[in-house]
Amino acid sequence: MTERLELIQGDITHVTADAIVNAANSSLGGGGGVDGAIHRAAGRELLAECLTLGRCPTGQARITKGYRLPAAHVIHAVGPVWQGGRNGEDELLASCYRNAFALMEKHGLRTVAFPSISTGVYGFPIERAAPIALREIRAALERRPELERVTVVLFSEKDLKVYQQALGA
Ligand code: ADP
Repeated sequence: MTERLELIQGDITHVTADAIVNAANSSLGGGGGVDGAIHRAAGRELLAECLTLGRCPTGQARITKGYRLPAAHVIHAVGPVWQGGRNGEDELLASCYRNAFALMEKHGLRTVAFPSISTGVYGFPIERAAPIALREIRAALERRPELERVTVVLFSEKDLKVYQQALGA
């Protein structure tokens, strides 16, 4: 199971996979951080498709094509904004991963790369987010033998170390 899970440091816009996951906001209209990087790399057609989808509530996800990205699809997942940890943030974060995997299944996708959802501008502490992300990824890998590879792409070496530690724990 864990041989189908990999943690790498890098830029998710360079990853070739059936889908990459975007840490989007509810408007699906683009933003900063990984969202901005994905929209820049995919081109304006991605924004045009996103704007046909309407709003996406926190904890949910929507799928589009990948356009100029090496990835075939983008799954736009809206993570929670950190508000201190007592406003359902853990469950909403878990829900992003679960809904992303549900879209993978629905569309017959086998390889996916995730960024560390909510741990940038949205302020979710990465030490708390990493075990939630990894728990949901492991659960999906156990339930779904058709999943070939799940990659978590960490932007910094520090973030990679946090996830590596959480994976070993
Ligand atoms: P959020 O608003 O959900 O917190 P951010 O984009 O601000 O989303 O941050 C989510 C994570 O994505 C952060 O760890 C950030 O460092 C990382 N990140 C930013 N750009 C990229 C990229 N090109 N590839 C992978 N991860 C990225």
